[in-house]
Amino acid sequence: MATAHTLSPIQSFLDALRAKYADYREGEVATYIPELAKADPELFGICIATTDGYVYEVGDSRQNFTIQSISKPFVYGLALDDHGAELILRKVGVEPSGDAFNAISLHKVTGCPLNPMINAGAIATTGQIVADSPEQRIGRILEMFARYSGRPMAIDQDVYESESRTGHRNRAIGHLLRNFDVLVDDPTATVDAYFRQCAISVTCADLALLGATLANQGLNPVTGQRAIKEQHVENVLSVMASCGMYDFSGGWIYNVGMPAKSGVAGGVLAVLPGQLGIGVYSPRLDAQGNSARALKVCEELSRAWELHQFNPPYCPQTSRRLAYTAAERSSSRTRHSSHRGFLREHGQRIHVVEMQSNLAFSTTEPIVRAVLERVGRPLAVILDFHHVSAINGVAVRMLVDLAEALSRRGAMVHFTHTHRHEVMRNQVASYLADRGEVEALFRYHSTDGAIERCEDVLLEELNASAVSSQRNLDEYEITAALTEEEISLFASLLKHRSHASGEKIISSGEEATNLLLITKGVVGVWLGGGASEGNRVASFSVGTMVGEMAFLDGARRSADVIAEGEVETAAFEIADFVRLQQSHPGLHTKILRNIAVSLATKLRKVNQDVSVLSAARD
Ligand code: GLN
Repeated sequence: MATAHTLSPIQSFLDALRAKYADYREGEVATYIPELAKADPELFGICIATTDGYVYEVGDSRQNFTIQSISKPFVYGLALDDHGAELILRKVGVEPSGDAFNAISLHKVTGCPLNPMINAGAIATTGQIVADSPEQRIGRILEMFARYSGRPMAIDQDVYESESRTGHRNRAIGHLLRNFDVLVDDPTATVDAYFRQCAISVTCADLALLGATLANQGLNPVTGQRAIKEQHVENVLSVMASCGMYDFSGGWIYNVGMPAKSGVAGGVLAVLPGQLGIGVYSPRLDAQGNSARALKVCEELSRAWELHQFNPPYCPQTSRRLAYTAAERSSSRTRHSSHRGFLREHGQRIHVVEMQSNLAFSTTEPIVRAVLERVGRPLAVILDFHHVSAINGVAVRMLVDLAEALSRRGAMVHFTHTHRHEVMRNQVASYLADRGEVEALFRYHSTDGAIERCEDVLLEELNASAVSSQRNLDEYEITAALTEEEISLFASLLKHRSHASGEKIISSGEEATNLLLITKGVVGVWLGGGASEGNRVASFSVGTMVGEMAFLDGARRSADVIAEGEVETAAFEIADFVRLQQSHPGLHTKILRNIAVSLATKLRKVNQDVSVLSAARD
């Protein structure tokens, strides 16, 4: 477990908070369980665990104490996992009772405990944990806590025996539950398991991690282990929010605004869903049985850090990272100038929206709206998931519904960079079921690749001469402004070659002896190891040139060039270029200028891409 840096303002705040309330001595240590009366009332620890598993701690954060009632919501979660919410709700309600934690209160009509946070409800809940024997029952409870805390858990034998000797009231509750058939087997064994679960030994740091695991949708943020089914996390947090602080629950949620649970040994655990787990320990209790110092600490933390659940940070707009069209930012394909012109004019029919952060209803709704506001008669809409960190079910359904609506209007829709989101892909597949759009949605891995293909389709739709068909040499970028005579001289110097699909035409690291004109097909430029493991960074179509950088500066080839389909090239040798300087200086200068223009065009494209990126950052 990482410890906080001494320069951290968060750590300093916690240090000061502990110092401030160390002098606060209101309340009394619990004595009705004799062993608890032995606790040193001065003990005081505070821990905060983040949902990425970082733990801040101050004071007696590693002091052991018994979990007591803080066990109740967790065992409730286990019962939900064992039986589902429907059955458990028939046994134990979810209404705040307004009574003390140990009140002998059951629903007047059903005989069911009002909620799982009062002892009656907690004992009934423990009785629901599936097991063949009392040992197995407590064993399963200990294993569950180990998943939450990330370490083996043990029972404080002295506290257990002490409560077992004196817990007549809880035994009475057990028998009452048996009388109403809420418990169906031996109530003595169930109450005994309950005493043991309350005597589980924890530290403040454990409480913070228990809380962070709930905040993290049931996944322990340090170990990555699942502690509770994701769908039951909200049930557990709900009962904590409404009933977790006994008859102070209303005041607590009003002031602190976080689901929480306290125990008579002096622990308090609070959860800020999605963000934090908080554990505080100090044994003196107020009249309601909540740790008096912990109450102060949590109130002040909530105010200072603005953690109240009903005052959440505003975030929806941040889910749209970038939105642009192919007119503003084209693919990395270098195309013939006539095609570039077409794409500048019509590229606004290809839309890209790069999303980011966490997609849920409120963060996806602005994406849906932005897409619908921007697109007129779209040819394609590309939704890029590269910077998305998480997506929930409703966000998946909204985006798929949007894709369907757009494709009914004739647009191609592509979800790109989805490889980190396996779960989302499966959700999309099952949501679409047999509607068959799935493959098209995920056809392109990268946004660049998707834009490139959509540009090809757009060019074809515009009847631009077919993207990969041949051109006359006078239409090439390298021959601009050459006379007919110069073109035929230049043509006589070229060496023509054909390449099979997949052939490596240029290899990274090799010496450059020429530049290549693409006379048929498309070539891809790959960095870092070629077509299988590398990264395709650019591509070139007919009429353009490739390899001109090494041609000019004599450096080694910086990337692999690979034929995509059948390709033909014409090589222009450095040696011939050098000879032209003597024999035909005018032609030499024109060619040099054309190469410079080609480089300038590429540089301009890079500048344009950068300006699209930085405009979006403003
Ligand atoms: N074991 C304790 C009891 O049942 C737990 C109560 C509590 O922490 N509030 O009395």
